[in-house]
Amino acid sequence: MAKMEFKELGKTTVKVPVLGLGTWGIGGHSNRYTGADTQAVQVLRLGLDLGMLFIDTAEFYGHGHSEEIVAEAIAERRESVFLATKVSPEHFRYDDVLKACEASLKRLQVRYVDLYQLHWPSSSIPIPETMKAMEHLVNQGKIRHIGVSNFSVRQTRESQESLSKATVAANQVEYSLLDRSIETDLLKYCQKERITVIAYSPLAKSQIPKGGRGGKWQVLDEVAAGNGKTRSQVALNWLIAKEGVVTIPKAVSIDHVKENVGAIGWTLRREDQKDLEEAFG
Ligand code: NAP
Repeated sequence: MAKMEFKELGKTTVKVPVLGLGTWGIGGHSNRYTGADTQAVQVLRLGLDLGMLFIDTAEFYGHGHSEEIVAEAIAERRESVFLATKVSPEHFRYDDVLKACEASLKRLQVRYVDLYQLHWPSSSIPIPETMKAMEHLVNQGKIRHIGVSNFSVRQTRESQESLSKATVAANQVEYSLLDRSIETDLLKYCQKERITVIAYSPLAKSQIPKGGRGGKWQVLDEVAAGNGKTRSQVALNWLIAKEGVVTIPKAVSIDHVKENVGAIGWTLRREDQKDLEEAFG
């Protein structure tokens, strides 16, 4: 098994695995966790055993249910896991951020999270108010680092400018071979400012492994065959080869988790990257 690779989180010296575990939809979407989701817990534990010691969740996922499943999965090794969760925009008022964080910590059964992210921009609550609360949480030791998600360049810049001492460590955004829209400006901005890009939906919600035939899919299949890898492994490897990018594929299938970890330990040739980028341009 290849050794996990790491990248520095934002401007910090903290190392984040390049491959983490997404949790959207893990354990379903029901309101209340009954402790019966052994499959979900086992899959997450397997991912951690395989070195993907980075879990991304959110208060929004399954109404907190996902955080409760994560709590069970990390219970015996909290300190070795880079744990990220998110606050929803309806909680972006100062006091609500603090309350939402307490509730997440309780569901996750931890004293702190490594990365606390604003899930997506609010259309009504000013960024500086929310960032003030986030910085307070850093000072209290309840969150180690501040992240944003689905933020544009302008919103990311405003978030950074609203902080007095802390920095925006990461922006979690959609990025895959099928959706390369961040390459127009956000990716370069984050690389220049040393803000880690956490690429979500890296398999385009399974469209990449399922995909079609011919055209760009044929190019992907040829690159995969030439490297002795699968479509998913190539798509994930292509992402983590980018400066400052890490990714969080989600899988509830044991075979998928095992397959995805095969995205590390090798590098796509430059001509393969070029062929893929032309085909998926
Ligand atoms: P994704 O990771 O691109 O795709 C997940 C789908 O791909 C699942 O159906 C999964 O199947 C399948 N899959 C995984 N590995 C596979 C493999 N090796 N071969 C074939 N199929 C495979 O999509 P996502 O869940 O949207 O994104 C990942 C994570 O990003 C989420 O879970 C969440 O943590 C985060 N996210 C964040 C936001 C945001 O707004 N910040 C938005 C979307 C997602 P099985 O589950 O059946 O194994």
